[in-house]
Amino acid sequence: MVVGAGNAALCAAVSAAQYGARVLVLEKSPKAFQGGNCPYTGAGFRFTHDGIDDLKSLLLESVTTGNIAMSPYTADDFRKHLEQATYGDSDERLVNVLIAQSRETVDWMYSIGVQWELPASARLENAPSVIPNQVALSALESGPGLVRMLTKAVTGLGTQILYETKMVSVVVGEQGEIIGINIQDHEGVHTISCKAVVLACGGFEANPEMRIKYLGTRWENAKVRGSRYNTGDGHRVALAVGAATNGHWTGCHGTPIDLQAPRTGDLALTDAMPRRSYPIGIMVNLDGQRFTDEGAGFAEQTFVQIASDILTQKRNRAFQIFDQRAVPYLEPRYGRSEPFQANTIRELAEMAGIHSGAFGATVDEYNQVAHDADYIPKSLDGRSTSSITPVKSNWAIRLDKPPFLAYGVTGGITYTYGGLKIDEHARVLNMEDHPITGLYAAGEIVGGIFYHNSLRAAGLMHGSVFGKIAGRHGAGL
Ligand SMILES: Cc1cc2nc3c(=O)[nH]c(=O)nc-3n(C[C@H](O)[C@H](O)[C@H](O)COP(=O)(O)OP(=O)(O)OC[C@H]3O[C@@H](n4cnc5c(N)ncnc54)[C@H](O)[C@@H]3O)c2cc1C
Repeated sequence: MVVGAGNAALCAAVSAAQYGARVLVLEKSPKAFQGGNCPYTGAGFRFTHDGIDDLKSLLLESVTTGNIAMSPYTADDFRKHLEQATYGDSDERLVNVLIAQSRETVDWMYSIGVQWELPASARLENAPSVIPNQVALSALESGPGLVRMLTKAVTGLGTQILYETKMVSVVVGEQGEIIGINIQDHEGVHTISCKAVVLACGGFEANPEMRIKYLGTRWENAKVRGSRYNTGDGHRVALAVGAATNGHWTGCHGTPIDLQAPRTGDLALTDAMPRRSYPIGIMVNLDGQRFTDEGAGFAEQTFVQIASDILTQKRNRAFQIFDQRAVPYLEPRYGRSEPFQANTIRELAEMAGIHSGAFGATVDEYNQVAHDADYIPKSLDGRSTSSITPVKSNWAIRLDKPPFLAYGVTGGITYTYGGLKIDEHARVLNMEDHPITGLYAAGEIVGGIFYHNSLRAAGLMHGSVFGKIAGRHGAGL
């Protein structure tokens, strides 16, 4: 039994079927929403390779790579980048498997029908000649394409996917081994006997109760950027039968997001909702106070923390304030928002519902120590304020060119880091580090790979690597 029908699950299902198992896939959502967070991604994969010539065999014949240079991406590079992101706290055993099997898993995915393309930057008409090597390929037609191609591979092997059918619990035998699974569909709850269950049903980002419990109360009202179906069912079911946890259970990926973003992901909107131009303005809460260092670094380095900071503010919201010096540099997606706009800070406060006196005082205090300069957003300009709290470390430039704009923002959650403890064979371990016979896990439900931060395009990669392994071992090999 494979629980979920996203990237990790479908890799597990194909692998198990290839090794001769009779496989059934359960998907809680209707078919149109299959794949959890997978369809929300660009489907970039991070894996080791020997440069552009090495990738040719994975690309469609029509793709010309003649003018493109891409250097090899070595196991050492992969390890170094993961260590930088996670401060070296990842589970070394899992990292070793991930890196060592990344390339062969991409090849295997190709062999089962996943078509690959070069990163978007390489496909532009005026593409640069040197393409970054870290995320060398994306699945054709991004996340939705990946789910489509893997689903075809699964069904092509005669494996059925039951939609709108969820795992409720697992059935344990006298020795603590898995002997069945309880599932629920429109007709009720049924028990199916089985020898192995692969849990690949994502994280707990869409479950407010689990967000409060593990991430902290600040994440209670976070907007969910991806699937509403990833509610930590696999975490709860596995913990109930004695599984051990691994990784950073208080950690998650998030971003500042438009206050009007939907409560849970909408494929047409997700990419348009992040609001990451805050380094070139200031942020205030409803009380008109600044609460964080907006210029601590480039947005790529700070946006997860900033999302968390916003969520601790009154009514989990804040306003990003810009003047006309900043406007030309706002990310294009700000065009999707309807900001408040006014010629004075007082008027702006009244329109946005911010405490007017306090907001005015905050801007006056900031302007007294901020710099009269132009923004250079692409370099840390070192223009800081030292005498106000919180300090603004870079891009502390006066807000004095009306009209002023206020964009309402909150925190959005992308996915969670904490999960189940597995070994190199994707077997779920109990508290004594013994495998729970018949229980496997892969994908976002696995803990121990991302700590503190995630690494772009490594999430899908580890889901595929351990999905393939889980399928094979679940099939009894
Ligand atoms: C906006 C966004 C952008 C992202 N960008 C990237 C990126 O660029 N690169 C990257 O590597 N990762 C990215 N991620 C993370 C990536 O989506 C996840 O790492 C990946 O999808 C996890 O795969 P998975 O197979 O473990 O889970 P999912 O793909 O989320 O699939 C889980 C499946 O399980 C189903 N399910 C849940 N509970 C049950 C149940 N009880 N019974 C049956 N089925 C159940 C769900 O409906 C879903 O289909 C992004 C995520 C989001 C939201």
